[in-house]
Amino acid sequence: MAEFEHEHVRVAVIGSGFGGLGAAVRLRREGVTDFVVLERADAVGGTWRDNSYPGCACDVPSHLYSFSFAPNPEWPRTFSGQEHIRAYLEHVTDTFGLRPHIRLNHEVTMMTWDAEKLWWKIEAANGTTLVADVVVSATGPLSDPKTPDVPGLDTFPGRVFHSARWDHDYDLTGKRVAMIGTGASAIQIVPAIQPQVDKLTLFQRTPPWVMPRADRAISGAERWLHRTVPATGKARRGLLWGIRELQVQAFTKRPDELGFIETIAKANMAKSIKDPALRARLTPDYRIGCKRILLSSTYYPALAQPNVDVVASGLSEVRGSTVVAADGTETEVDAIIFGTGFHVTDMPIADRVVGADGITLAETWKGGMESLRGASAVGFPNWMTIIGPNTGLGNSSMILMIEAQLNYLADYLRQLDTLGGRVALAARPSAVGAWNRRVQERMKRTVWNTGGCDSWYLDANGRNTTVWPGTTSEFRRATREVNLAEYDVVRAEVPAPAEVEGAVA
Ligand SMILES: Cc1cc2nc3c(=O)[nH]c(=O)nc-3n(C[C@H](O)[C@H](O)[C@H](O)COP(=O)(O)OP(=O)(O)OC[C@H]3O[C@@H](n4cnc5c(N)ncnc54)[C@H](O)[C@@H]3O)c2cc1C
Repeated sequence: MAEFEHEHVRVAVIGSGFGGLGAAVRLRREGVTDFVVLERADAVGGTWRDNSYPGCACDVPSHLYSFSFAPNPEWPRTFSGQEHIRAYLEHVTDTFGLRPHIRLNHEVTMMTWDAEKLWWKIEAANGTTLVADVVVSATGPLSDPKTPDVPGLDTFPGRVFHSARWDHDYDLTGKRVAMIGTGASAIQIVPAIQPQVDKLTLFQRTPPWVMPRADRAISGAERWLHRTVPATGKARRGLLWGIRELQVQAFTKRPDELGFIETIAKANMAKSIKDPALRARLTPDYRIGCKRILLSSTYYPALAQPNVDVVASGLSEVRGSTVVAADGTETEVDAIIFGTGFHVTDMPIADRVVGADGITLAETWKGGMESLRGASAVGFPNWMTIIGPNTGLGNSSMILMIEAQLNYLADYLRQLDTLGGRVALAARPSAVGAWNRRVQERMKRTVWNTGGCDSWYLDANGRNTTVWPGTTSEFRRATREVNLAEYDVVRAEVPAPAEVEGAVA
């Protein structure tokens, strides 16, 4: 180890959610064992460790929302709950022998590219420093909760927490609760806590489109079949995938065809919401799909209950125990729960990476996130993102995108091996530019850009830097292998023979 001042690894993976654990499995499959997974928390699981709110479950069916290389015949429900998904990720960690690689309680605070040595120096909050030839950043697009800066919040005497950091020590029974936001988490929380609380006031800036959710228990017979004849589980996954591949065409190319789905969503609402005034408040005025389509068969029935109020306005101020909406509505509450999403287009990790030009990724991306095939940003050699820019999906499983990116990672490492020596790949600005122009050109026709809404898919400049405007198979094809023409090959300076210690002239 004398060669290195710090511990050296070939690959450092940051994060241990689906992305980081998937990368770890893939590295082992490729025969790479010299790697670590750095995780800031005290357990693996990412999203499914942090989101433990009542009612938390996936909204893509479990047989598709899981790794293709680790099928789970035992999923208990079509849309399994957080505790089962978290247990699945723990199981994957054990099954693939990942524990020896994982370093918990290692929050990465800085990564700096050493242009001479061609490695990344990685510093963690606990004082650890190590160097890695390649960094795989799998810190998650929905990992750092976003809480709005509400004037007067510090004067609130009750409990305040974010959906992704649920306060399990606080008993909501008989309490007056303000739920802020109507996104994917909020619509799961509302029906879960409504029977328990005294009064629930929902602050809604924009109503979501909500489709019925075909959630049911998976029978013992089905599980037996998937266990005994694994091909049936594969077929089920294939069907779920295929339907979504077809559906996405309407999102990306023919948003007008989505009107038909709006009819189903409206019927879902009309079944439970009989009050015309409330129905009007809950009816979106933008095309379905523009914001993430939410799935729930229990949300509207909960909103129809007498202990629920929907304020069609955002939270603007807190005055002691009174929460004030932008429309002036005042409500006294005991607790405020923020279901206000995450730092998606302003990922905190971007402030913690300093690339080849000595500037951070956040500075590089100040005009908007951009990278080559969702992986490599200009100026950040051998630094790859899992679920990077424009890799998100509106209607299918993110695991499909993660696995496509793992193919790219595997080929990236093979290319480095083939090139040999101390070498790095630096994405060419022209290649990154060309890729993003193509992505943005295709984006113009999509429902996310044309549907008439403001969503978290768009960044501060109104540019959609989050969603992939195509099918998952197109992305898989685009990331099957690394095209070396899109990268500059950077080699460490080899000292002239005379400079080599002990060299004979
Ligand atoms: C409530 C909820 C439900 C969802 N449901 C679905 C669904 O049904 N279908 C779907 O496709 N997608 C869903 N998603 C999206 C989901 O985020 C992705 O599917 C997937 O779990 C992301 O995995 P990841 O590993 O990239 O990120 P994460 O799971 O967020 O993991 C990132 C990890 O990185 C760690 N980390 C972050 N910063 C640092 C640092 N500086 N140092 C060290 N470690 C760090 C975090 O602690 C975390 O463990 C959902 C998201 C949420 C929040």
